[in-house]
Amino acid sequence: MQIEQLYQIYQQFPQISTDTRQISQDCIFFALKGGNFNGNAFAKQALASGAKYVVIDEVAYQENETQYILVDNVLTTLQELAKYHRQQLNIPVIGITGTNGKTTTKELIYAVLSEKYRTLATKGNLNNHIGVPLTLLSIGADVEVAIIEMGANHVGEIAFLSSLAQPTLGLITNVGKAHLEGFGSFEGVKTAKGELYTYLADHQGTLFIQADNTHLLDMAKDKQFHQVIRYGTSEEYDVSGKLLTADPYLQIEWKVNRGAYQSISTQLTGSYNTENILAAIAIGLSMGLSADQINAGVEKYTPQNNRSQVTKTARNTVIADFYNANASSMAAALDNMKVVTADRKVIILGDMFEMGAESATEHLAVIRQAETIPADLRIFVGKAFFQQDNGQDHFFATTEEAAVFLREQQLAESFILLKGSRGMAFEKLMEVL
Ligand code: ATP
Ligand code: MG
Repeated sequence: MQIEQLYQIYQQFPQISTDTRQISQDCIFFALKGGNFNGNAFAKQALASGAKYVVIDEVAYQENETQYILVDNVLTTLQELAKYHRQQLNIPVIGITGTNGKTTTKELIYAVLSEKYRTLATKGNLNNHIGVPLTLLSIGADVEVAIIEMGANHVGEIAFLSSLAQPTLGLITNVGKAHLEGFGSFEGVKTAKGELYTYLADHQGTLFIQADNTHLLDMAKDKQFHQVIRYGTSEEYDVSGKLLTADPYLQIEWKVNRGAYQSISTQLTGSYNTENILAAIAIGLSMGLSADQINAGVEKYTPQNNRSQVTKTARNTVIADFYNANASSMAAALDNMKVVTADRKVIILGDMFEMGAESATEHLAVIRQAETIPADLRIFVGKAFFQQDNGQDHFFATTEEAAVFLREQQLAESFILLKGSRGMAFEKLMEVL
């Protein structure tokens, strides 16, 4: 079936589903394949649950030609349909990638732009070759601006996702050492994320750039953009701002070039979020929002899913930041512990996954940095950290062992940083804090 024909069906039945456990009535079900499942085998069930059509790529599962749409490859068809839909939309699309802070920045931009526009943003973290097309296909006719998060762990992915989302404005939050297994090296990270800049430059896009970041400047140089908007700490930039306090919630002040400072009290923690907020301010301004609208949007935003959340437990205050961890987000989280003023500080760090050949060096660097921060207790958890046991701090091979130790410690009135890769399951430590 031609994409144009499928698009006509989609226009009548714009709900898309890829999971029979979450079928919406009259949707089109795309029978994707995964490592352990074949969506084709669920097509019949999808129809029984209320799907209008099923898109399959194995003829053996086709039971009729009215509801079963047979294509060569379901995933490619989903992507092509999303791209086709995007081409029909005449709205600004903001593309976001970067090593850290994509989701937070996306949500901040969403909070800001929603003060003026009907805004659609990637749900949660649906930022890959399936999530991006699904997000694009969820853009209805009433949407005035869309924000698309794009993630990658290989070179070429951002170029591909950009070709689907076709951003008219874009930003890379930052580049750091993460997914080194897939990218090969830090240079690989820069090449991969830089594909967004290349797309914007090739399509008269507007670039938002954190202009204190020399890596980003380096990646943007020699490229021509329709417009470049700089944000960061210098008053010479289009939008500048600085952190006033982070104790634990951030208060920042910001201004436009030559304007007067104004302050915002946020519900976010982590000094590194200052630049994420500035990105949202810069985009809000460029899209015609007033300073009051921008401030209102930022002030309302509360982070979720263990991203830079401050949690008060019965005895302690915890920065619960164990949704993910890599070399640069660890460094940012530790920097933030310097800014925090608390009498008792405790640092609990878990392994950073997917660090490839640089794993040992990067874990050692984190230990070294952690040791420069005055703390009552430093605990390192996981196989990679455990190999670096220096006899000074506390090292545990597993989260379970760390939990036993922490239960014995009965910490109280401490300000605790709890950060590690998702796979460390640090929610188990929350229970004993
Ligand atoms: P993912 O790759 O999982 O999609 P993401 O890029 O969407 O991650 P977030 O989920 O927004 O990132 O934030 C994850 C963590 O990254 C935060 O909890 C924080 O520790 C760190 N982080 C956020 N912003 C920055 C920043 N600007 N610089 C460094 N680290 C940051
Ligand atoms: Mg994300």
